[in-house]
Amino acid sequence: MFKLRILYAFFIPAALGTFHILYEKGVIPYAAVNFLFLMIAPAGYVFTESFSLILIVCSWFVACVLFAFIYHTDPINAAFPVFIFNILVLIFMWHNRIFRYENKRRAVELKGMEGRKSALSEELEKASRFESGIKAKESSIVNLYEITRKMSEHLKFEDIFAAFTSSLKDNFDFRKCDLLILGREGDKAVIEREYSVWGDDEKTGSGKRIDLNRLIGLFLGGFRDIFFTADNDSHILEGLGLDTAVVKTLAVIPLLSEKKMVGMLVVENLPKSDLERFVIVSMQFALEIKKVLLYEIVEKMAITDSLTGLYVRRYFYERFTEELQRSKRHGFPFAILMLDIDDFKQCNDRYGHLVGDFVLKEIAHIIKENVREIDIVARYGGEEIAIVLPETAEENARLVAERLRAKIQENIFKAYDERLRLTVSVGFSVYPQDAADIDSLIEMADKALYEAKKSGKNVVCKFKKEYNITT
Ligand code: GH3
Ligand code: MG
Ligand code: MG
Repeated sequence: MFKLRILYAFFIPAALGTFHILYEKGVIPYAAVNFLFLMIAPAGYVFTESFSLILIVCSWFVACVLFAFIYHTDPINAAFPVFIFNILVLIFMWHNRIFRYENKRRAVELKGMEGRKSALSEELEKASRFESGIKAKESSIVNLYEITRKMSEHLKFEDIFAAFTSSLKDNFDFRKCDLLILGREGDKAVIEREYSVWGDDEKTGSGKRIDLNRLIGLFLGGFRDIFFTADNDSHILEGLGLDTAVVKTLAVIPLLSEKKMVGMLVVENLPKSDLERFVIVSMQFALEIKKVLLYEIVEKMAITDSLTGLYVRRYFYERFTEELQRSKRHGFPFAILMLDIDDFKQCNDRYGHLVGDFVLKEIAHIIKENVREIDIVARYGGEEIAIVLPETAEENARLVAERLRAKIQENIFKAYDERLRLTVSVGFSVYPQDAADIDSLIEMADKALYEAKKSGKNVVCKFKKEYNITT
């Protein structure tokens, strides 16, 4: 487009010059001038600017000489129209020059802009990569937050573990994750509870069982996360009893609470890239475990008597109520035993309260050892112990009561430097034959106990209707 303008720049003066000469001189000079300018016209197009200039100036002389020769006139006179029109040519060339410079400047500017554009688009790409990185981090933080939130909603260990494992399945790729809760037996760390969760629903290949004691041994040097790969640490994995054909990586993460290892997570086939995230979740899980263990302690403290370890009276009522409802629902009988130490006052007076406490604790222990897990044993009063025997009718209740009485009678209490023997009396009542409500059943068992004491102590006495008659 721009070059076309230069072309016209030659054509227009050529045309004007031609017009002038035609007017003045006739047809032939027109043809000559037109031819000359037509020859020169592309000069600005093809040659450099200075060469074009020289060409144009030369053309004047040629034109002047040509005119002078053809028309027999003065060359100055002949040159005049050519000169005038070529001035116009020069003006156009000057314009051309300006345009060219402008064009060049724009081209440079454009180039610069393109450079800036590509730098900007690089920046943009970097920013979008950064943004997607942030988004990935954000979603991972949101996930971690969700996991911790879900875990923190619970107070029972099993529930927290369920929340933890479901989050593991949703957010991590692994084969199997074992949770080991550690306890102490003297100086030795032992596994108190153990849970496993599989990455896939189906257990993928049995693999070998990991050597847990060796695993605990790994932490003798300090509690740090450990990551083994089958490629680099096959001897360690095999030493732990694992099959390296199945277990490709093993992450062992200690769960710490107050600088003590309360457990560990053992994860098979967790990608190394997930380790950092996994450790964060594990740390949160360790906190949750600590919370649960504390809660369990508090709960235990709230429901158990500190001296005897038996249930306190309030909790006993709760459990008793539940048992009564259950028995009513299923039509089961149950018995309630009231056990009282005979002449305990004397024991205290003679040996002191410390010995008395020891005896009380020991009796509680004997009772716990001689009843079933489902039986509810509580410290009802000072040295009075209540025992609910679910799904137990009179005959069996008597057998249990007799067994307890006999066990205590046989026992030699070795308290401090003292050795003593003690007996207990037991009174009991049975649901539904004696009564159908808690208070009546307890009162009846109490009455039976009173009768047992009255009849000489160290006996078992079942409630009878006539005990209601107060004498
Ligand atoms: P009985 O054979 O009639 O039951 O006579 P007893 O002396 O045992 O009389 P009673 O059952 O009324 O005695 C309760 C005694 O138990 C009184 C109290 O000193 C003692 N006692 C209650 N709680 C504790 C305890 O926690 N530690 C100790 N050492 N003694 C307790
Ligand atoms: Mg007593
Ligand atoms: Mg008593």
